[in-house]
Amino acid sequence: MHVLLVEDEPGIANVITKGLGEAGYTVSVAPDGNTGLQMALSHSYDLYILDIMLPGMNGMELCTLLRKAKDNKPVLMLTALGTTENVVAGLEKGADDYLVKPFKFSELLARMKALLRRSAGNFIEGNKLRISNLELDTDARIVQRDHTEIHLTSTEYRMLEYMMKNQRKVISRMDLLENVWGVDFNMATNVVDVYVNYLRKKVDRDFEPKLIHTVIGMGYILKDS
Ligand code: CA
Repeated sequence: MHVLLVEDEPGIANVITKGLGEAGYTVSVAPDGNTGLQMALSHSYDLYILDIMLPGMNGMELCTLLRKAKDNKPVLMLTALGTTENVVAGLEKGADDYLVKPFKFSELLARMKALLRRSAGNFIEGNKLRISNLELDTDARIVQRDHTEIHLTSTEYRMLEYMMKNQRKVISRMDLLENVWGVDFNMATNVVDVYVNYLRKKVDRDFEPKLIHTVIGMGYILKDS
């Protein structure tokens, strides 16, 4: 995992670089926004940590430019205490989360892990949807698990596509009925359970980790952790 840290205070940059290095991350540091932008445009990073107050271009402007350049990697903003308006503005510019200085290193690590998990889970690349080792090509309508092609019926395919687009959210049986069957009939919702079981047999039974989970009393959730 390669992190780009844009931070002009050497003390903070050093602490973060050292801590993240010990936690197994590779960290590159940019001391100002313009350098950060150049680095971001010429390398591929898994996550950005952007201080808001920077010389030259600030962290929010940098975040705006990253999003304009279609870079959707997670952005964690660092902000000084008592500047909540910065936080709101940062989130509006496309940042995913923020931390108020001074913060505990463990807190930074926890936020980063959550963002990276979310970003890996929601991975949409062109026409591909992905969660863990399950991949669905929405153009060719090909499903692969661990590089093995899985043959689905059209109903099973639509169900899986809907679940992958809504991964990590609880999906009710009514959601599935409306979005997979496309009608709001008063059909017994156990048809959904039947199809979820078909899907489980094909997608989950012979593979790890298990992805389709039952949420008792609510429905289903597609997740890998
Ligand atoms: Ca600063």
